[in-house]
Amino acid sequence: MATISAVSTQKEAVSNQEEQPQKTFLPLQVAKRLEKFKTTIFTQMSMLAIKHEAINLGQGFPNFDGPEFVKEAAIQAIKEGKNQYARGYGVPDLNSAVAARFRKDTGLMVDPEKEVTVTSGCTEAIAATMLGLINPGDEVILFAPFYDSYEATLSMAGAKIKSMTLRPPDFSVPIDELKSVISKNTRAILINTPHNPTGKMFSREELNVIASLCIENDVLVFTDEVYDKLAFEADHISMASLPDMYERTITLNSLGKTFSLTGWKIGWAIAPPHLTWGVRQAHSFLTFATSTPMQWAAATALRAPESYYEELKRDYMAKKAILVEGLKAVGFVVYPSSGTYFVVVDHTPFGLENDVAFCEYLIKEVGVVAIPTSVFYLNPEDGKNLVRFTFCKDDDTLRSAVERMKAKLRRR
Ligand code: GLN
Repeated sequence: MATISAVSTQKEAVSNQEEQPQKTFLPLQVAKRLEKFKTTIFTQMSMLAIKHEAINLGQGFPNFDGPEFVKEAAIQAIKEGKNQYARGYGVPDLNSAVAARFRKDTGLMVDPEKEVTVTSGCTEAIAATMLGLINPGDEVILFAPFYDSYEATLSMAGAKIKSMTLRPPDFSVPIDELKSVISKNTRAILINTPHNPTGKMFSREELNVIASLCIENDVLVFTDEVYDKLAFEADHISMASLPDMYERTITLNSLGKTFSLTGWKIGWAIAPPHLTWGVRQAHSFLTFATSTPMQWAAATALRAPESYYEELKRDYMAKKAILVEGLKAVGFVVYPSSGTYFVVVDHTPFGLENDVAFCEYLIKEVGVVAIPTSVFYLNPEDGKNLVRFTFCKDDDTLRSAVERMKAKLRRR
């Protein structure tokens, strides 16, 4: 099985920790705005995976490597001396490649100089968007379950979060609830399609309703589309491409998922100039610029032929089939996932009290790691029956995980 540096780096971190002599530390300190947050669930679970030698179907990082032509481009860029600070909002070649891909995907023509900002992963693009465009007290609507950094960065910005829950089996948008929550006081609504953790893809009807409510109430849309190339059961639709939406939309994306290079941390935000200004101001003082040689390589990656994306999709559909069929055979209630490399299941047939208890049992007694979803809700109760598995692992790893679960999990 391929081992990759991300795993070995994490392993080193764990073993270094164990070798440290016992020291006493002062109580932990953290600013109020981050007080309620814990170590991210992905870090917690990956550390436990290493400690218990469990198969990690938790944190979403491929255990196979990115394409040779992209790695070669990075080596080349380093050798050519592209090693000093990049232009703050992106090396020109990458801004152009992002704009060209956006045009191919959505039909929208954007100015790479004025409407594209390159960031350190989509996570920084999310933070820069929140910090650059949200004022303390502004209302922002989220759909739960939501990716953990949304709440934390909104909290840093001092936003007032309004969350509404997408419920199984289809996780559809509760339109009436949305209508009752959205108002002239709403500054922004955040969507994520294909959606982490559920694999839901927002339908055209849902996007249309959200769009018309945003236009009516003068609300911005922040849209996280990092899994756009992992759309299996439906076509990906970018909110920015809907009529009259581009001017109020910030589209966030990254390289990591599409090119199996999650450690490179290259992301971007696409928005009209009046919104790009806020994003760039925050980005300037968060990181200023992102790794120069990796940006050059990212530009090469984005010029990949269509066949690259087709193959990626084919490979992931095969992996998805192994995991989904396996989970069904083990006895889980598996909810349909249309995109992303995640699938959410109901664990209650196995009789454990909640998602956290189930994941603990799964790691310690079965040797498999999944992500408890209750951390993705403002009200953790809403996620207590659900856990997330990822299939961004080589086929043997997926099969071994299924075998372990078949051997040890019993319905109660
Ligand atoms: N996006 C990855 C996931 O959902 C996690 C990234 C991280 O660990 N912050 O699994």
